[in-house]
Amino acid sequence: MITAFYNTSLKKKLMTIILLTSGVVLCLTSAAFIINEMATFRRTISEELLSLADIIGNNSSAAIMFNDKKAAQETLNSISANPRVLAARIVTKDGELFVEYLAPGADRSRLKIGAEEAPAEAAGDAGALWGLSKEVRIWKRIVVDGTHIGTVVIQPNMQGHIKKLNLFFAIAALVLLAAFLIAYFMSMKLQSLISVPIMRLAETMKKVSEEKDYSLRTEKTSKDEIGSLIDGFNEMLTEVEERDEALRQHQDHLQRLAHFDDLTGLPNRALYCDRLSQALFQADRATQKVAVMFVDLDCFKDINDTSGHRVGDLLLKDVAARLQTIVRVSDTVARMGGDEFTILLPNLEDPEKASLVAQKILQNISEVYQVEGNDIYITASAGITIFPDDGKTVDDLLKNADTAMYHAKNNGRNVFQFFSREMNVKMMNRLDLQNNLRHALERNEFVLYYQPRINIADRCITSMEALIRWPHPEKGMIMPDRFIPLAEETGLIVPIGEWVIRAACLQIRKWQTQGNPLFPVAVNVSAYQFRRKNFTETVTEILEETGVSPALLEIELTESAIMKDVDSVIKVLKELNSLGIIISIDDFGTGYSSLSQLKRFPIDSLKIDRSFIANATTNADDRAIVIAIISMAHSLGLNIIAEGVETEMQLALLSAQGCQEMQGYLFSKPLPPDLLTQLLHDDRERKIQKNN
Ligand code: C2E
Ligand code: CA
Ligand code: CA
Repeated sequence: MITAFYNTSLKKKLMTIILLTSGVVLCLTSAAFIINEMATFRRTISEELLSLADIIGNNSSAAIMFNDKKAAQETLNSISANPRVLAARIVTKDGELFVEYLAPGADRSRLKIGAEEAPAEAAGDAGALWGLSKEVRIWKRIVVDGTHIGTVVIQPNMQGHIKKLNLFFAIAALVLLAAFLIAYFMSMKLQSLISVPIMRLAETMKKVSEEKDYSLRTEKTSKDEIGSLIDGFNEMLTEVEERDEALRQHQDHLQRLAHFDDLTGLPNRALYCDRLSQALFQADRATQKVAVMFVDLDCFKDINDTSGHRVGDLLLKDVAARLQTIVRVSDTVARMGGDEFTILLPNLEDPEKASLVAQKILQNISEVYQVEGNDIYITASAGITIFPDDGKTVDDLLKNADTAMYHAKNNGRNVFQFFSREMNVKMMNRLDLQNNLRHALERNEFVLYYQPRINIADRCITSMEALIRWPHPEKGMIMPDRFIPLAEETGLIVPIGEWVIRAACLQIRKWQTQGNPLFPVAVNVSAYQFRRKNFTETVTEILEETGVSPALLEIELTESAIMKDVDSVIKVLKELNSLGIIISIDDFGTGYSSLSQLKRFPIDSLKIDRSFIANATTNADDRAIVIAIISMAHSLGLNIIAEGVETEMQLALLSAQGCQEMQGYLFSKPLPPDLLTQLLHDDRERKIQKNN
């Protein structure tokens, strides 16, 4: 019941409380009135009838003493005029009825009035005994000269009183009812003053929580506690609204961060993939094609390294801006990270359109940039793949475009390439090789072959070049042209290159202990490896560790490797040179280095690139180049080596130009150490024979 009350609406609670309170108050007041009325009535009637009893007692005392019942009856009858008396008796002191008066209509049997009920034992001379209405009586002792001779007992007529009381009750009930009704209507009104604003508040709260509309407010109708409750609620909403707004802005920001590239403002990989998958879905239904294009800047790292990251960043921004002006609004340009951009060309009618876009992009990117007052040139390579021809999923297409881009890079850069299945096979092989390469060092799978260089004058060995080989346990012999570029890309060239230097030194040491004549051994050092900070230290350490004289170690660096960041290259070359290490420039003639630049390098030899040698006897241009290189080397006081000499004709041409040192299949292929040791023996024999 109590819990039920707790759970009823505020409206019902308020009404119940008001009605209960007013009901209780009204009932109590009515009861007080009635009690007061009854008390007053009793008091007046007691006083009146006691004095009447006194008179009767006085007037009938002689009659009692003389036992004159007639006179006593007359005295008693004299009260018949008094409507307040219902019955009266005089009883003797022994309690016997002496005379009696009954008002007309009084029922004697119901009048319990007589000696037996007389309050003889009651103390005092007079008294009123109030019981229930019918049993009410008033008595008075008749005393003469101090002697109790009898008692007058009067029973008052309560009829009028009861009627009056009933009327009173009726009126009280009516008043109660009226008051109750008034209280009801007033409470209705009163509760609405409290509950209506609270209900409105609750409604607003509900709406706010359902619709998440924090701009809603509750109207304030009063300045009381409810008013301040509404104020508080509205203030709270304002605060929530403000926080909501801040949160929204924050989320927007996060959204931007999650979907856009910070530097260029272009969509990032995540957003690109999202748009691509949407485009694929639509193209699939409309049976249209979609092109995915990867654009990667060529040699961006060099710009970053030489001009700094700031310039690199500004350049990337410029490239991004150019890309956006080339494509249509419906196309998406995104930055995948680093210097890699992707372009999405949806609703493509003809894949050829993609090649037009690619052409335009490469052309546009290769135009000069003005970054912080400097002219910067850069090119890009692009790979294109077509949905659904090449692939159907986002992942496949991205992979294809990457593969195609990689091939474009390998095809000389600043070109674009469409994806083909064969590329994919190549790519898979490449990945496979890359994985194998990681373990090749640990498994000690590499070996060094040695190719001698010959002095044409006496056909004796002057030095040799160490060339790495990878006899793969399953794939067979893998040549360096296949895995060195991979090693350079993955950075594995550093430990591999270190291994090569150490292995070459250990071999020199071995030949030395075997008592063989000693020749310098040239090792090929890749640019990436050479540019590592501690390259000189590593070489020094290996020399010390193996106990090989620096004069027996030659380092071959390609022309293209030394032509970038010339100053720091010269610094390292000087360090190596001062140690006594021989330095030669490999593949010379391919790197377009100028004579004036060449003079600055502390180098010992030039190796003419074998492509020129190969064509020297057939192609006049190549012949001219070979002749020019030889004379230039002579004028610079550099030793000159021709590599890739395969024919006597080539030999003749070269020696006619004054090139004394040669390397090539004509003399010997690169050989494993054991075979080369044999060659060294033969060489010694020949020398001895010659001398004899
Ligand atoms: P490279 O430094 O120009 O080496 C000369 C290449 O020409 C060698 O190929 C050699 O076998 C080959 N060769 C020699 N004589 C002839 C000839 O008469 N005719 C023809 N057609 N070729 C001849 P190889 O050993 O396959 O090496 C290829 C390239 O791999 C090297 O070119 C070099 O750039 C790189 N490489 C080889 N070993 C190493 C190494 O230990 N470290 C690094 N970083 N690169 C290496
Ligand atoms: Ca070489
Ligand atoms: Ca070479």
